[in-house]
Amino acid sequence: VLPARLFFEAVEQSSVAISITDTRANILYANPAFERVTGYGVAEVVGRNESILSDRHTPSLVYETLWGRLRQLKPWSGVLVNRRKDGSRYLAELNIAPVLDGQGQLSHYLGMHRDVTEMH
Ligand code: FAD
Repeated sequence: VLPARLFFEAVEQSSVAISITDTRANILYANPAFERVTGYGVAEVVGRNESILSDRHTPSLVYETLWGRLRQLKPWSGVLVNRRKDGSRYLAELNIAPVLDGQGQLSHYLGMHRDVTEMH
């Protein structure tokens, strides 16, 4: 059995920006790559909503589709325009997956994203 420590170190050292939220998208954990990509320090994002990354011009239909998938306990993937702490924008290739507890009930969300601005 792999130790929990190894899972933690693997996530901490991932080059993908990884965050774990409660069921309302409030951030509980963010890894160092999340800091590098978004410009927000881990200490300042914990407790805030993922919507701090929204660039405020994304059509609400995009978010409704995203939440529609999550409500069905299905993952959502897509490319969003995100805004860093300094206000600059970047293209985020984002994957959000529901995390279920032992009873199959929604407990958290796992968010993973990369800055793909240079690829477009
Ligand atoms: P919101 O007030 O969040 O609402 C937008 C729409 O979504 C509304 O129709 C609302 O009814 C619906 N909605 C919101 N919360 C819920 C909920 N808990 N259950 C059901 N429906 C809901 N957004 C980004 O822009 N960039 C990101 O990188 C990003 N990463 C995310 C990562 C994770 C793990 C999760 C769970 C969400 C992420 N989001 C991200 C979505 C983010 O939480 C916001 O919903 C989004 O940014 C829109 O914010 P808003 O304040 O404009 O609208």
